[in-house]
Amino acid sequence: MKLQNYIAGNWIEGDGDGSPLFNSVTGEVVATATTKGLDFKQALEYGRSKGSALRRMTFQERGQMLKALAMYLLERKEKYYDVSYKTGATRIDSWIDIEGGIGNLFANASLRRQFGDEPYYVDGDYAPLSKGGTFIGHHIMVPKEGVAVHINAYNFPIWGMLEKVAVNWLAGVPAVVKPATVTSFLTEAMVKDIIASGILPEGALQLICGSAGDLLDHVGSQDVVTFTGSASTGRMLKSKPSIIENAVPFNMEADSLNSSILGEDAVPGTPEFDLFIKEVVKEITVKCGQKCTAIRRIMVPENLVEDVQIAVGERLQKTTIGSPTAEGVRMGALAGQDQMREVKEQVDKLLKENQLVFGNLDQVEAIGADGSKGAFMSPILMRNDDPFNATAAHNIEAFGPVSTILPYRNLDDAIALSKLGLGSLCCSIVTNDAKTARDFTLGAASYHGRILVLNGECAKESTGHGSPMPLLVHGGPGRAGGGEEMGGKRGVLHYMQRTAIQGSPTMITAITNVYQQGAKQKEVLLNPFMKHFEEVEIGETLVTHKHTVTDADIINFANVSGDHFYAHTDVTSLDGTLFEGRVAHGYWILSKAAGMFVENRKCPVLLNYGIDEARFTKPVYPGMTIGVRLTCKEKIQQEKRDADDIRKGIVKWLVEVYDQDNETCAIATILTMVKNREQDA
Ligand code: NAP
Repeated sequence: MKLQNYIAGNWIEGDGDGSPLFNSVTGEVVATATTKGLDFKQALEYGRSKGSALRRMTFQERGQMLKALAMYLLERKEKYYDVSYKTGATRIDSWIDIEGGIGNLFANASLRRQFGDEPYYVDGDYAPLSKGGTFIGHHIMVPKEGVAVHINAYNFPIWGMLEKVAVNWLAGVPAVVKPATVTSFLTEAMVKDIIASGILPEGALQLICGSAGDLLDHVGSQDVVTFTGSASTGRMLKSKPSIIENAVPFNMEADSLNSSILGEDAVPGTPEFDLFIKEVVKEITVKCGQKCTAIRRIMVPENLVEDVQIAVGERLQKTTIGSPTAEGVRMGALAGQDQMREVKEQVDKLLKENQLVFGNLDQVEAIGADGSKGAFMSPILMRNDDPFNATAAHNIEAFGPVSTILPYRNLDDAIALSKLGLGSLCCSIVTNDAKTARDFTLGAASYHGRILVLNGECAKESTGHGSPMPLLVHGGPGRAGGGEEMGGKRGVLHYMQRTAIQGSPTMITAITNVYQQGAKQKEVLLNPFMKHFEEVEIGETLVTHKHTVTDADIINFANVSGDHFYAHTDVTSLDGTLFEGRVAHGYWILSKAAGMFVENRKCPVLLNYGIDEARFTKPVYPGMTIGVRLTCKEKIQQEKRDADDIRKGIVKWLVEVYDQDNETCAIATILTMVKNREQDA
């Protein structure tokens, strides 16, 4: 079977026979792959032009699209497991790849709630740029008009694709995915379904199975390239003239010599010691150690080295290796013979300095498979007693079930050793001592993209050392490539152009569709609470009646709320304070404001949803007269939870409470849930 490429809206085969891709368990040919004769320039141009469909969609629509796709793929997951076994992955390995990948789609779908109901994003707060308030600045972020080109590693053919495309699609940017050739048959199987689903707009996804050819020679200034793989390939691609000349953002995730540290308090007999051993063994064996985040360096207090070596060895001894579909198998095969050869070469280099304490490079017993045909290898545990001088373990990555124990004398040493990896994706410390956790994290963070602190308290629910999470940043400095992906909203913004905009508050309101303080207001006579969601307009303002504050207002509120703070109730205690007399509670000012702007009759407002920001800017004393301006600031349409739900949205209101001198006393953004006039029949 020759794998197909999905280019410019068509499934096409490359020219020639293609290179064979193997079942890593049986050694049989699964498929061939070739991209000969494909026009990559045209593919990129097609993506850019068709990308306008995604760019026009709002964040809410893009999020809904991701959710629909996630549900669609989840229904078909067993099909991908069947293919995944051929990559050597066990059920658990495949779960990380397949369901972990689909989980990324769900997580990014939910992120839509952190964005507005527009195709663009208004970033941060406005910047006041003038004394009179007629000139302000802000930042707007729009989807880039290019394509996201993803060059992926072989270890996670599904997750590697979905963790990236979920993010660029939410940002409104189409993708060209190039999985590593060796396992691309699994990516192809899923992309076939994605395209057939019709859930994505045309052009949102293209797939290349085989060599990337001259693809990167055609990238332009609006494109974004992400790379996951070896540092040497990454560096070569990053220095291509097309990338440099067009200033193309290039996000690199490369080799990483991650470490896990056993805290000095976590001696044998403590829950933390057992957790450490379990985590280390898991990271050596899951996915056959072919994880960019796997623990390569096991750092242990020098007096505990023997204990750790014995405990890890005992557990590794129980690791059954073989065909992923055979009963009882815990560790499958590497991705292929080439990959296994490379791992063994790297281990040979490491053994020049390290002592082998568990495993055998030449022997392995494979259950349910022919050990000579499949890419099976024994876990390898090494030890290096002089880690500051014999530094191979800090520099050589064997991308397989391989790790090295390194002793440390004190926490400063552990920090220094962790940094000798010259930049890692992740690191963990297993300790139940808060000071150790704090000192280590603050000392080591600059060299790590993520740090897990593991103890008995969080162990049951912890996602573990090796799992990058969609809402947390994945990437690391230095050797790890210097990149940063995922991280919730942070990742989405990588695919958008941030543009500073300057002008009058009225102009910035018109551009962003978010009311900016100082912009022209449209005073309305009818309480906007009487309007349905569609009818409320950004900038429309209700100016309420006024109220003169009395002592009784404040005392009554103190009694109702139970807040008898001295400044509200004891005028004899005000010496040396900021107050000149009995001062109104801030909460009373906001409550009173609500009493002045709320429409009491039954109206389309369903409920008060919360307060985003509130500031009390000037003390309010009895005798002062306050009024309220309620201005519609922003609107976000909500989706229906189910068929019985009503159509509704969130309206954000700017509440300004001012006094008799027109000075602001309190300011807040309140949120209401408002019914739509148009309801489904
Ligand atoms: P690799 O050889 O560097 O390949 C990575 C990707 O680059 C593959 O898709 C490969 O395609 C492509 N590629 C190679 N040469 C290219 C070229 N001239 N132009 C365009 N694309 C090109 O790495 P690998 O052996 O697949 O993966 C293992 C390595 O990846 C390990 O070192 C591991 O540490 C690292 N890794 C890092 C992370 C992370 O997040 N930091 C995650 C996983 C793996 P072909 O397959 O077609 O050659």
